[in-house]
Amino acid sequence: MRFVSALALVFFTAAFSPVPLSAGQQDQEPAPAPPPHTGVIPDDERVATLKAEALVEVENMRDFTQQMVDQIFSFGELGFQEVETHKYLVNLLRTNGFSVEEGVAGIPTAFMASWGSGKPVIALGSDIDGIPQSSQKPGVAYRDPIVEGAPGHGEGHNSGMAVNITAALALKKIMERDKIPGTIRIWPGTAEELVGTKAYFIRDGLFKDVDVALFTHVGRNLGVSWGAAGGTGLVSVEYQFEGETAHSAGAPWRGRSALDAVELMNIGWNYRREHLALEHRSHYIVTNGGDQPNVVPRTAAVWYYFRQTTYPKLMDLWKIGDQMAEGAAIMSGTTLVNTRVLGSAWPRHFNKVIAEATYENIKKIGLPEWSEADVTLAKAVQKELGVREQGLATSLGRLGQPVPDAQNRGGGSDDIGDISWNVPTVTLSFPSNIPGLPGHNWADSIAMATPIAHKGATAGAKAQALTLVDILLKPEIVERAWDYFRTVQTKDMTYEPLIRAEDTPAIDLNRNIMATYRDEMRKFYFDPTKYKTYLEQLGITYPTIKK
Ligand SMILES: [Zn+2]
Repeated sequence: MRFVSALALVFFTAAFSPVPLSAGQQDQEPAPAPPPHTGVIPDDERVATLKAEALVEVENMRDFTQQMVDQIFSFGELGFQEVETHKYLVNLLRTNGFSVEEGVAGIPTAFMASWGSGKPVIALGSDIDGIPQSSQKPGVAYRDPIVEGAPGHGEGHNSGMAVNITAALALKKIMERDKIPGTIRIWPGTAEELVGTKAYFIRDGLFKDVDVALFTHVGRNLGVSWGAAGGTGLVSVEYQFEGETAHSAGAPWRGRSALDAVELMNIGWNYRREHLALEHRSHYIVTNGGDQPNVVPRTAAVWYYFRQTTYPKLMDLWKIGDQMAEGAAIMSGTTLVNTRVLGSAWPRHFNKVIAEATYENIKKIGLPEWSEADVTLAKAVQKELGVREQGLATSLGRLGQPVPDAQNRGGGSDDIGDISWNVPTVTLSFPSNIPGLPGHNWADSIAMATPIAHKGATAGAKAQALTLVDILLKPEIVERAWDYFRTVQTKDMTYEPLIRAEDTPAIDLNRNIMATYRDEMRKFYFDPTKYKTYLEQLGITYPTIKK
């Protein structure tokens, strides 16, 4: 019906065209018009049939999807240390006919899986890493860690690969049967919480032959957007200072404290903060504060995230950080020995054509049906956190529109930005989490191995599967997407990597934290041979709420 009315509108407009074409004009060969930048293209009968079949396939994989969501949740691994998650996904993809190249871009827990042949090449990606200190029993509406102090999926990165793999396998079955040409790639957003890898994927040419990148990220609703996204890009830099040791009491004047440099840099930055643009974000942690108090710290280091809404503004902010570090070294009589880029992310820009095609599919799917238990859990945690008890999403949002820079008030980042400036890309958001949560917190874990996450992932997989059908069977989508990319998105902005030539992936990050907790966490890995769900394995009553 939607398409019929859209078509009717076209005829209506044409009928009122004020100047009819003359016979002479009609005879002339018109210059080829650029393709329209819309992804709203009616399904022909074959596409409609294949879409209906894809939906049935995804529906039949509900248990498979749930197992993936629960399994990765139970690993709860931090960025660059996603060893178990990596092993699990690589095995799963190989078992299902994908060829997998491991350790891509020099990152042990990154891979590129591939199935099929020929064009189009569609790359399905999603993040896999967790959040420090967010261990949490799923289905429990108050803080109750599985392992105290341990990391966990306090954002929901355990669910996106399930969305992609289910969608890919549904399509693979149909493509094999009907001999539909095309290549499906699957890749993990390794260490996304450190924005640590995607710029390296680009640098190493992993997306060189990719036609479209379909990214997916957990959200509170089923949605997609195009154009400049809200939020920021970021560069993540560690400043390392060096001084000289001395007896802190006996001869402190002989020492030069690298920790002084760190503190002076932070004080300087915090004074400067008031005079930085409102949309910027910056934060730091001290990664090395010295060894013990009676030894003047010879080495110390501080790790900053600098965030801004555009690439030029981000470069300016980074320069201020570098100046602050140099000033701190001068004041403390120490040396700034190294600046290490630990991660980076371009501000995101999503493709209009692919977003519109995706949104048409989202409207066909709608939101999952939530049970009373699902809504009870959501409202209980909202009450616990003192936010509006709105429950779960019950209506779809509109197609997300570009955020003009003047209206961008800043926020989070994602290194999918780097992919989005190299290949037409969208991020599909799927409703596996609860609205109103703070992010990077135990509360963001509680839904992520429950029916809320499972239903949300199935809804996401359906949307992803239908968009795959569109891209495989409507060649004009790829053509239009690239035309938008070339003539609109990159018309006045050229991608320059934020990582410098000498930078390499920071694969050592989080090693110590995981070494501290892994043995204890291993006792709670999901065992699908014994239990249907992770909730069942943990013996959790769903939902568990404060009385
Ligand atoms: Zn994320």
